[in-house]
Amino acid sequence: MEVTIVGAGLVGCLLACFLARRGHRVVLYERRHDPRERGADRGRSINLAISERGIDALRRLGLDGRVLDAALPMAGRMMHSPGGALAFQPYSADRAQAINSISRAELNRELLTAATALHGVEVRFGHRLTGVDERAGRLAFESTAPDGTSGAVTVDKAQVVIGADGAYSAVRARLQQLPGMNFSQDYLDYGYKELSIPARHGEFAMDPGALHIWPRGRSMMIALPNPDRSFTCTLFWPHDTLAALDTPGKIRAYFAEHYQDAFELMPDLVGAFQGNPVGQLVTVRCSPWHVTTEATTIGLVGDAAHAIVPFYGQGANCGFEDCVELDRYLDEAGDDFPRALELFERRKTDTDVIARLALENFVEMRDRVGSRMFLAGKRVEHALERVLPGYVSRYELISFSTTPYAEVERRGVRQRRWAAAGVGAALLAALGYAARRTGLVRTRDGG
Ligand code: FAD
Repeated sequence: MEVTIVGAGLVGCLLACFLARRGHRVVLYERRHDPRERGADRGRSINLAISERGIDALRRLGLDGRVLDAALPMAGRMMHSPGGALAFQPYSADRAQAINSISRAELNRELLTAATALHGVEVRFGHRLTGVDERAGRLAFESTAPDGTSGAVTVDKAQVVIGADGAYSAVRARLQQLPGMNFSQDYLDYGYKELSIPARHGEFAMDPGALHIWPRGRSMMIALPNPDRSFTCTLFWPHDTLAALDTPGKIRAYFAEHYQDAFELMPDLVGAFQGNPVGQLVTVRCSPWHVTTEATTIGLVGDAAHAIVPFYGQGANCGFEDCVELDRYLDEAGDDFPRALELFERRKTDTDVIARLALENFVEMRDRVGSRMFLAGKRVEHALERVLPGYVSRYELISFSTTPYAEVERRGVRQRRWAAAGVGAALLAALGYAARRTGLVRTRDGG
């Protein structure tokens, strides 16, 4: 079968690898030129935290080693208080688990190289999808050559089309016009902007084994390490705060007041703040994710189907897991794509959960992680993991397991009940002991 994938981003490339392994011929159409020949867009390099779901997908194709070689492990969060005090909080009770910092551009290059090395995979760069006719199985592209000349390209009789073209998917835009398609798009009143902390005297300026967070109530900054010993920082700020800092003086003064320790490590702060674009944070929900006509079957995967905000570090991980799930449903359906895409719709229960948890985690990251209560709560949670068999924190289940997201949520509710019962029983026991010691209660034997 020939499969047309629109979008050679992270998920499109990985899906191409899975489909080629099944013996399908895959043609990827990508609007950009080959990123292996050009650098990443300025201010849009974005670091990702890749964790177990993503690694599991890569492992199934033997790609985990090369991706992890280009990544740096982060075993916990390092909180920076306004006064510069640091507090490290490990992600797992045994401190052995880590999420992995990698540049999105680097990961995309690795996956493109892996996909194009496979028999049956072809990438057509400089092809932007402009139209879909599902009744005829026809796709229209605007093609641009590296020298800037452009033209129109039509693909006829595309039997299977997968939209892996990201949060603003052109494939999805066509499906949205069909009857029965549900769609919502929710923007946060926040934007993100990238900054950088360069290496200092050739070394990391901060601990490279942590994801750094500057929680500041309504807003926050995070920083992830890079192999060149720099850190990529991302501000998640309300749009009005971003817009208010409109002079070099205001930018410097604001950072000196709120992010003092980072400010001292950012020699190019003003240039980066003024030069780098503001990105949007959007949650996209839609259903169904596929449509089948007599001529073609069209499906959506990755951000095209379920874009989420980045605060659980799961967007790409979830998209990679889509590939594993679709591969499994193709097994189940004997490579019948319409049937497999129908089965794949079951995944929406899980992606709806992670979309919600990602939004909730924003409040935790920007506000609660800095508080003593939060740190104490995490210590209690890790203690429970050590003493209660089977108790695993929600963060660990999301980041360090492949337990379906919806099951993580159900298990979290059950665990909170056990923990409350366990803590209640421990409190009662402690009260009983204290009462006996103080003679307030006499036991039967008079002790
Ligand atoms: P994309 O990566 O957006 O790829 C879509 C591809 O389609 C692109 O190559 C694009 O050029 C192409 N395309 C678009 N339109 C067309 C068209 N009309 N014709 C042809 N081609 C087209 N995820 C994590 O797992 N961990 C993290 O820590 C994390 N951090 C993030 C931080 C930020 C600030 C942001 C914004 C996102 C973060 N994410 C993270 C999410 C992650 O980046 C996305 O979930 C992931 O990139 C989705 O992959 P995708 O392939 O579905 O879409």
